[in-house]
Amino acid sequence: MKLFKSIFITSVIIFIFSGCAQKKSPLVIEAMNTVCTINAFNDGNKKLYSEISNELKRLENLFSRHIQTSAASLINQNAGKNPVEVPDEFIYVLQTALEFSKLTEGQFDPTIGPVVDLWGIGTSHQQIPEDLEILHKKLLVDYRRVSVIDNKVFLSLPHMSLDFGAIAKGYASDCLVKILQDNNVKKCVIDLGGNITVFGTKENNLPWKIGIKNYDKYLEVDGGTNIVTSGNYERYFEQDGKFFCHIINPKTGRPVDSNLKGATVCSKSGLRADILSTCAFILGEDNFYNLLGNYLLQDEKVLFY
Ligand code: AMP
Ligand code: MG
Repeated sequence: MKLFKSIFITSVIIFIFSGCAQKKSPLVIEAMNTVCTINAFNDGNKKLYSEISNELKRLENLFSRHIQTSAASLINQNAGKNPVEVPDEFIYVLQTALEFSKLTEGQFDPTIGPVVDLWGIGTSHQQIPEDLEILHKKLLVDYRRVSVIDNKVFLSLPHMSLDFGAIAKGYASDCLVKILQDNNVKKCVIDLGGNITVFGTKENNLPWKIGIKNYDKYLEVDGGTNIVTSGNYERYFEQDGKFFCHIINPKTGRPVDSNLKGATVCSKSGLRADILSTCAFILGEDNFYNLLGNYLLQDEKVLFY
């Protein structure tokens, strides 16, 4: 089928009112399938930024399924064949994702890879697939077919595929925060393609002010908060007046058809913020609170708009 229009907007989603006179250049690096900007202001030296760059590369080598030798790719290549041994932190991230799959009754599912590939949204081969193809690939999406024994991960059907697109950037921000702490950085803004983390305190202990595209108020948050947004305006394509976003409903095998423009989660955990914001966009407000309301931590905040 022919695409009439293909749009891939990478505009800045979130505006930060840092109130800091900027003296040093931030680190800007392509990683995790996006442009990452890390601004440690006056503490932004070469050593810090090279540690951060290396950490982002290390994490890509664990979670990116577009790197043939990554842990995620090795698991995918061995789907239906062999369990693959992976590091503790990979197990921790995967288990956290699987917990949310269970809580959302499979609407959040890290085995969504085959259906993501079929639609190819945000890539040069994006398309509306045939119904039969969707049906076929949908059968490969099932978080209950991921087995984790000790540090070994096994996908029970050939061609199943783990996809950490909704998860890895959130975990990466938690890892970068550890580096900032180890280096005694006073304040920093981490922007991993719209996943924002504000770290440390501003002058006079003022809160960080965050403006979010399509949300008409700004947020005031403390240092140590991750502000993560999932939406349909960032990565999508349009055909015959219909919009297809990059977040898939595993039950239908089609992009989520939502009235929401976006959902934003604030959490002290980047990993949780990333998973929860994708869940929030998929589920919508009522279902989100029905399924996950009891599992939110006290200081976590969710916005639907
Ligand atoms: P995010 O922008 O964090 O909401 O994540 C979107 C990305 O998560 C997509 O580009 C896919 O890689 C992946 N994804 C899509 N649908 C789902 C789903 N239902 N569950 C888990 N991950 C998904
Ligand atoms: Mg996410």
